[in-house]
Amino acid sequence: MYISNITHYLDETGNISTQMPTEARELASFLALVIDESTKNIPSTLSATDIRCFEKGCDGIIKYELINPKDDIHWICSKCQNEGRISGWQGTKWDNNAGK
Ligand SMILES: [Zn+2]
Repeated sequence: MYISNITHYLDETGNISTQMPTEARELASFLALVIDESTKNIPSTLSATDIRCFEKGCDGIIKYELINPKDDIHWICSKCQNEGRISGWQGTKWDNNAGK
């Protein structure tokens, strides 16, 4: 279970920090994609995306849900055990729900 606060991966300009190991940057990019998509759609039930799982060798597709527009985003891979929650996404540059 990945419990991620996206703000931990950002630099002072709100972008994904370049001062991190590649693995952390890849995870942060994945999280940003999930935030961008889920705040466009606000899926209230577990919904399929076209986002690929970031796990090496896994060809699963990510499903996500955002029960309440203010809540953590819950995501899960359709194939491997990857699953997580994203907090701290509100007000980031990938938040399409800003001000609503
Ligand atoms: Zn997977």
